[in-house]
Amino acid sequence: MIEAVFISDLHLHPQESAITDRFHYFIQWAASNTQSVYILGDFFHVWPGDEALDAWSQSIATQLAWLAARGVKLYFMHGNRDFLLGERFAKLASMTILAEPTVITLDGKSVLLVHGDRYCVRDKGHRWLRRLTRNAIFPALFLRLPYKIRAKLVNKVREHSQANRKKSIPYMDIVTPVMLSHMQQLHVRFLVHGHIHKPGLMTHEYHGENYYQYVLSDWDDIPSLMCYDRANGFYFVRLIGG
Ligand code: MN
Repeated sequence: MIEAVFISDLHLHPQESAITDRFHYFIQWAASNTQSVYILGDFFHVWPGDEALDAWSQSIATQLAWLAARGVKLYFMHGNRDFLLGERFAKLASMTILAEPTVITLDGKSVLLVHGDRYCVRDKGHRWLRRLTRNAIFPALFLRLPYKIRAKLVNKVREHSQANRKKSIPYMDIVTPVMLSHMQQLHVRFLVHGHIHKPGLMTHEYHGENYYQYVLSDWDDIPSLMCYDRANGFYFVRLIGG
């Protein structure tokens, strides 16, 4: 039995039906294969606030709640696209919202969980946006705007990023020393994050110690699921059939 599965960057959107289908397949798979699921941000491609709940997103929440009812623990961390996902949706989906960053313990090992954008400090535009959107005041202010205006603003961002989607832009990359000093400061050797869509394990030596960076995949094709169990540690599993 897998103890924990880590996913991120599904970028679920009503017009991306292949990803919605893949997610449905994942829910079925997770019900019989894992004890917990950690969603590390950019679950939804856009989320202008919990008023975005409609038949489509309600069905996503219902599937998560179904999984939770089977005894699987669900955790959600905000990404840069769904930072306005709130308690209302979380409650419907029976998932617990985690702060970003969060350190969890797996068999005595401390593991740092982040979305990943916090280390992309070369992206000046994004850094500015992050400072604005991830402080405590902005979401409260933004949520006071009429929903229609919010939805319009958020969709503008979507159109812009859609144009850049497949481009690999160097400033979107993780700045490794920033990441390693954060890990050192929090006394963790293991990190799991998404955002950059370049799945795999990278090991780093820093001040004479080894650090392990696990990067999650996106869901544009068959995703690689990051799994953890006591016997095998961290490993990737392809969602075959998804
Ligand atoms: Mn992201």
